[in-house]
Amino acid sequence: MESAASAALRTQIFEQLAKTAPSSHLVSRAELLGFNVGGERLPLIDYSRGIRNPKQLDATLSVVSSADGPYADEQVAPGIWRYDFRAGGTGGDNRKLIAAHRLGVPIILFRKLRPNLYQAVYPARVAHVDHDNSRVLIALDELADLADHEQSPIEREWAEYIAKRRVHQPAFRAMVMRAYETQCTVCRFKHGELLDAAHITADSDAAGDAVVTNGMAMCKIHHAAYDQNFLGVSPDYRIQINAALLDEVDGPMLKHGLQEMHGATITLPSRRGDRPDQDRLATRFETFLAQ
Ligand SMILES: [Zn+2]
Repeated sequence: MESAASAALRTQIFEQLAKTAPSSHLVSRAELLGFNVGGERLPLIDYSRGIRNPKQLDATLSVVSSADGPYADEQVAPGIWRYDFRAGGTGGDNRKLIAAHRLGVPIILFRKLRPNLYQAVYPARVAHVDHDNSRVLIALDELADLADHEQSPIEREWAEYIAKRRVHQPAFRAMVMRAYETQCTVCRFKHGELLDAAHITADSDAAGDAVVTNGMAMCKIHHAAYDQNFLGVSPDYRIQINAALLDEVDGPMLKHGLQEMHGATITLPSRRGDRPDQDRLATRFETFLAQ
C-alpha cells in the first residue's frame, strides 16, 4: 500500500487541482510549474521530463502525453495511452511508475495540446506494465480494466464513448472557445454559457475530428441554424442565409439575428492555424447550397 503520508499528500494535490483545473480542463505550463499545495510550491510537471515523481510520493504523480508530438498523442486505444520507460530499466523514474501500477494509485495525465497548454485528465491509472516493450499503458480510471487485453467490439465501443466524453469533446470545446475568445463567430455574442463549439464536418462523420480547425464558436441560435442549413459559411468565410428565410417577414430574431447577417464575414481566430479548414467549409457549404 501507499504510505499514509504519501496517500494524504496525493489526495491533497488532487483536491487542490480540482479547484484550479477540473478534470479535462486546460491549464498552462506556468500554472503547473507554480502549483501550490498547503502553502508549498509543488510543480505538477517536471521542467524537462515527461514524468513527475515528487520525492514525498511513493509513486508517480503525473505523466505528459504529447498531443502535438510525433506519435499523435501516443494513444494506443480510446482512452489508453502508452508511456515509454525512460532509459535506465526499472530504476529511477520508472521505479515509481511501476509502483503506481502495483499500488493502484490515481495519477494525472497531462495532454500537451500546445507547447504551453495542457489538458488535465484525471483520475488516470497506470493500467498495465509492458516489460517486453519497456513501456506502461496509462488509462482513464473507468477504462483501466481494458488496458491489458485485446478489446472486444463492445468494450471498444464503450471505450470510445468514454474517451470522447471525458477527453476529446472537452478539449475540442476548450480549444475552440480559446481560439474564438469565447465569442460567436457570426454575431460576436460573448457569454460562454450560451456558446457551443460547432463542428464543420459532423461529429458523427468519420472525418469529424475534434480539432480546432474543424470547429467554430457559435451561440446556440447560430449553431442550430448552421446545423439545420438555415445559415451557411462559405470557404471564403462569408455568411449566407437560406434564400427562403431571407424572404420571410417575422420578428427581431429573424430580422437582426439571421437576415442581417447575410453577406457578412465571420469573426476569425487571430491565430492563423486556428482558422476553420477551408476544404471542410467547402464540403459543408455544398450541403447548405443543396437545400
Ligand atoms: Zn451568434
